[in-house]
Amino acid sequence: MDLTLSDEQQDFRRTLRSFLAAEAPTDVIRELDRTETFPADLYAKMAGLGLTSMGLPEEYGGTPCSEIDLCIALEEVARVGACLSYALVPTLTFCGRGIAGYGTPEQKQRYLPGICSGEIRMAMALSEPEVGSDLTHLSTRAVRDGDIYVINGQKVFTTGADTADYLLAIVRTDPDAPASKGLSVLIVPRTAEGVTVRPLPKLAGQATHTCEVYFSDVRVPVENQLGELNAGAKIVFGLLDGERVFVGAQCTGIAQGALDLATGYAKERHQFGKPIIEHQAVGHLLADMAMDVRVARLVTWEAALLLEQGRPCSTEASVAKVTASEAASRCVSNGMSVLGGYSYMTEFAMERYWREVKLYEIAGGTNQIQRNIIARSL
Ligand SMILES: Cc1cc2nc3c(=O)[nH]c(=O)nc-3n(C[C@H](O)[C@H](O)[C@H](O)COP(=O)(O)OP(=O)(O)OC[C@H]3O[C@@H](n4cnc5c(N)ncnc54)[C@H](O)[C@@H]3O)c2cc1C
Repeated sequence: MDLTLSDEQQDFRRTLRSFLAAEAPTDVIRELDRTETFPADLYAKMAGLGLTSMGLPEEYGGTPCSEIDLCIALEEVARVGACLSYALVPTLTFCGRGIAGYGTPEQKQRYLPGICSGEIRMAMALSEPEVGSDLTHLSTRAVRDGDIYVINGQKVFTTGADTADYLLAIVRTDPDAPASKGLSVLIVPRTAEGVTVRPLPKLAGQATHTCEVYFSDVRVPVENQLGELNAGAKIVFGLLDGERVFVGAQCTGIAQGALDLATGYAKERHQFGKPIIEHQAVGHLLADMAMDVRVARLVTWEAALLLEQGRPCSTEASVAKVTASEAASRCVSNGMSVLGGYSYMTEFAMERYWREVKLYEIAGGTNQIQRNIIARSL
């Protein structure tokens, strides 16, 4: 496995890092989160830089790139603020890829150019109040009425739903089939009559809202069905493999951000007549953080390479998700120790990283569920 970055990849990382440092410094992200303001301008600027088109088909406006390139991009975005990666990921890596992989030519033509240009945003409506891990037992129902599906039910934790143009919803289309065999994926306009979206107060990344979504007799044309009828579970679980790799990339970014912040602080902060980095206990915290960053990146890139090659990678994606999220949590926790009392103050991004990182042990399938997947592969 050759993980040497090319000159182009190193340039790409540098360009992106300086763009984000200029456009999304800590105080800007802090203010967006404090005011719970969706970063629409920043999203448009990220689109201008080509981030919203990465890996999508070129013929629809996509930018060809490797999975490692995409991991680099998501690392850098998450390093400055999870509210930005929460904004980007559902549209790009789940919904955009879903449409590129399973959409009809008409669906690709209709949605992908707008996704690539940043004009169309989407949200993934999978979880429901009664089912999260056990997704195949979801109860949102779509009933066929001629050329229309009529949808009734409720989703929860749908990130970006209130600012999305469309929701990619998994719904039950055959109640008589075994749980996983009767599900389909529908593209639902967020403004369709009968769709109600309500943001939920949450711990972190508040600028991108995580919402409840109610469907009440929502009518969408059958041509909004993505992929085959009753093949929804296969589509969603396939996309979730990629999602877990990209969770790994975001966790690497948060861990790297915490390491950079803590290292800079430890070199500046003096106690007992010397920079605290020279106190061995602090140096060891930083060393542990540096090791966690490397572990997170390596497992993520291993899975990304398999994804790139189109090889089965469910186990590796789960390994990446668990290892990177737990490494990042440990890393940020050590970063809190390095900054002492200042870690707790909103002036520094460490407390934000600490709040943001917990999500990644939960979303995309909890780490307990990932361990089940890994154990089954042994
Ligand atoms: C901020 C945020 C954003 C999110 N964004 C989205 C989104 O955009 N779209 C979306 O669809 N969902 C989203 N989610 C939902 C997320 O994917 C779910 O929270 C997650 O899948 C877990 O589901 P649950 O919360 O219902 O927990 P549950 O499934 O109820 O699990 C509760 C606990 O039981 C454990 N558990 C359950 N079953 C097993 C088992 N078989 N073996 C071992 N342990 C088990 C779990 O690991 C967990 O610890 C988001 C969640 C959060 C917090």
